[in-house]
Amino acid sequence: MSKLLKDYLAKSLQDKKDRGLYNEIQILDGANGPMIQIEGQELVNLSSNNYLGLATDDRLIKASQTAADQYGVGAGAVRTINGTQRIHQELEEAIAKFKGTEAAIAFQSGFNCNMGAISAVMDKNDAILSDELNHASIIDGCRLSGAKIIRIKHSDMADLRAKAKEASESGLYNKIMYITDGVFSMDGDVAKLPEIVEIAKEFDLITYVDDAHGSGVMGQGAGTVKHFGLAKEIDFQIGTLSKAIGVVGGYVAGSKDLIDWLKVAARPFLFSTSLTPSDAAAAKEAITIMTQSTELNEKLWQNAAYLKEKLAALGFNTGHSETPITPVIVGDENLTQKFTKRLYEEGVYAKSIVFPTVPLGTGRLRNMPTAAHTQAMLDQAVDAYEKVGRELGII
Ligand SMILES: *Cc1c(COP(=O)(O)O)cnc(C)c1O
Repeated sequence: MSKLLKDYLAKSLQDKKDRGLYNEIQILDGANGPMIQIEGQELVNLSSNNYLGLATDDRLIKASQTAADQYGVGAGAVRTINGTQRIHQELEEAIAKFKGTEAAIAFQSGFNCNMGAISAVMDKNDAILSDELNHASIIDGCRLSGAKIIRIKHSDMADLRAKAKEASESGLYNKIMYITDGVFSMDGDVAKLPEIVEIAKEFDLITYVDDAHGSGVMGQGAGTVKHFGLAKEIDFQIGTLSKAIGVVGGYVAGSKDLIDWLKVAARPFLFSTSLTPSDAAAAKEAITIMTQSTELNEKLWQNAAYLKEKLAALGFNTGHSETPITPVIVGDENLTQKFTKRLYEEGVYAKSIVFPTVPLGTGRLRNMPTAAHTQAMLDQAVDAYEKVGRELGII
C-alpha cells in the first residue's frame, strides 16, 4: 500500500473518531421492518424510510420473484444498448400515470438521478438557485453540472424572489433553475410550492422538486407536487423507489420532451446498467398497490400523529414537522448520542442525527414511524423515551 495513502487513512479515521463523528454501522439480521434484530436483540425500528412497510410486503416479494423467473436477475446492459426490458418500460408508464405527467424515466437510485438529471440540462452558462437544506445528492448534482450555484435561505420566499430577480436581470445566465426538496428530511417541513411556482413564472425559472420523502407520503401517496395540484407546473418531479416504495431506484417524471432528452443526455442512464428486472417489478407493484388503495398511506399518517402527540405530551421538542418525520430535538451533540445509546439498550432504534447533517446545537433523534408499526410497538417506544428522557433530564 502507498505510504501516503496509509498515513492519510489512519489520520483521517482517527480524526473522525476523536470528533465523535465516526459512524459505526450496525448489521441487521433479517429484514428491515418495524422491528429489527441486531446482535440477537429485538428493537422497535424508528429509523427506516420504509414509510409504508412495503420493503417486506408479500405482494412485492412475489412480483420480484416472478420477474426474476421471467427476465433473469440482471438487466445485462445499460438501457441504451440492450438493458431496457418490458418491465422497465411498464414501470416508467406506471410512474408517469401515478404522478400525472406525460412520461417518466427510472434511474438506479435517487442519488444517481440527481447526478444525471441536473447536468443533462444545466451547464456553466446557467445558474441554479438551491435551498440551503437540500439533500447531498442535489448539492453534488448541481456541482457536477458546472452551473453557478446560488444558495437560498431555507424556504425563504423573499430571498428566492430577490435572488431570482438578481440572477435574471444580470443577463449572465442562459437558464436559471430552482431546486428544492419536496419534504425536508431532517425537520419534516414541506416546500412552499405554490409560492415557488408563482416566482418561477415571474422569472421563467426551471422548477426541480426532489420529492424523495414526499412520494408515498404526501398527496395520498402521489407526492408533494400532487398535494398542491401542481403536476402541470413543476418541470422536474424527482422521486426515489428506495423509501416509501420500498425497493431501490430513482426517477424523473415530467414532459415527454424532457424524458426523451434525459434518455439521450443523462450519463448514469447512458453509462450504468439499469435496475434489475426484480427491482422494476417490485417497484411497479408498489405503485399498483398505492393506486388501488390509500389504506397504507392513512395508516402511516395515523401512526405518525399518534407518536408525535405522545412524545410532545411528554414534553419533548418535536419541532415543526408537517409530515410523519418526527424529530426529537435534544440540542447538545453528546447528549443526543447518549440518548440514542440508552434507547438502544431499552429496545428502541432511533438514530441520532448531529452536525454536519443538521446545524450545530440542534442534535436530534429522528423518528420515522411507518404504516407497519402496531400501536403496541409505538407504545413500547414511547415508554422507553419517557424513561430515558427523565433519566437524562431532557423532560
Ligand atoms: C434519500 C434521498 C435521495 C437518495 O435516494 P436513494 O434512492 O436512496 O439514492 C435523494 N434525494 C433526497 C431528497 C433524499 O432524501
